[in-house]
Amino acid sequence: MSKVSAVSKEVVCQLCPRACRIPSNHAGDCRVRINVGGRLVASTFGRPCALHLDPIEKKPLFHVLPGTRTLSVATVGCNLHCTNCQNHNISQANPWDESVRVKSVVPGAFGATPEELVRTARLRGCPSIAATYTEPVVFYEYTMATAARAREAGLKTVTVTAGYINAGPLRSLCRVIDASNVDVKTMRPGVFLQNCGGVLKHVLRGLVIAREAGVWLEITSLMIPELNDSTAEIKKLCRFVRRELGAHTPVHFSRFFPHYRMRNRPPTPIGTLERARKIALDEGLKFPYVGNLPGNDGEHTYCPGCGKVVIERVGYRIRSNHLSDGKCGYCQRALEGVWR
Ligand code: SF4
Ligand SMILES: [Zn+2]
Repeated sequence: MSKVSAVSKEVVCQLCPRACRIPSNHAGDCRVRINVGGRLVASTFGRPCALHLDPIEKKPLFHVLPGTRTLSVATVGCNLHCTNCQNHNISQANPWDESVRVKSVVPGAFGATPEELVRTARLRGCPSIAATYTEPVVFYEYTMATAARAREAGLKTVTVTAGYINAGPLRSLCRVIDASNVDVKTMRPGVFLQNCGGVLKHVLRGLVIAREAGVWLEITSLMIPELNDSTAEIKKLCRFVRRELGAHTPVHFSRFFPHYRMRNRPPTPIGTLERARKIALDEGLKFPYVGNLPGNDGEHTYCPGCGKVVIERVGYRIRSNHLSDGKCGYCQRALEGVWR
């Protein structure tokens, strides 16, 4: 996934659209991928900065093994630089920064090789492993190796990502992962460039690739007041999802809180999230949700067949589940998702 110049030993990283040209003994834009004597090294392989047990609903993935916990893993680094990043202390950190060195909060964790992660997940009763919190793209090899071991052990792997990755590496990744929540930051290229430093078309192309590869997709749209919350932009997202990914693709309209370098905007009004969900329903999406809004009716899964609440949630907790073998317990309609 890299090209090396024989003369200068400069490496061109081909993992993400940034295509960093990395001189010897330097790192790419994500800080993680380092040119060591003409060889590109994934410096955080096996070195997580976070290891937690989370409800899978927290990712959010509402149509994947509901009510289970997922072993959640992150390393430092990111190939985007969003001004509102909730995890900037690790996503924008350097791998050699002592303050973000391996911290395990999973009692009884064995270690952090891919094999050890799988062993810990099984011991702690997690049917899945999640590459999350920062950006799985920049710890790509670690995610790939862990997903392969997980699959051998009968576990699933999910990613939580901004989806800023080149087509070739993404296709390889899609062969070993089961589901992904992709954070579509905005549908406006200029805003994505300005707020995150990326080119939006690569994210949208990646979603189509993942969909074609059979990866279960859920979309997150963090609704930032006056940045991406206009009716026109919400409609644009919904129409893209319906046309390119399918009307059954869950979309999570999530509440923004001021963070990091974006403290000049207020939290998302509740009415904005409810409006977004209503627009999505009107646009034909079957599973729009509100997020970061515990107790709201928009957190539940409604059966598209009979309209009843099939999975009732409060925050990350499942209050009741009327799915049976992936079918609505009231009308027997099959609901789309990864249910076992
Ligand atoms: S993954 Fe990192 S090093 Fe590679 S192109 Fe992207 S930002 Fe640059
Ligand atoms: Zn039903």
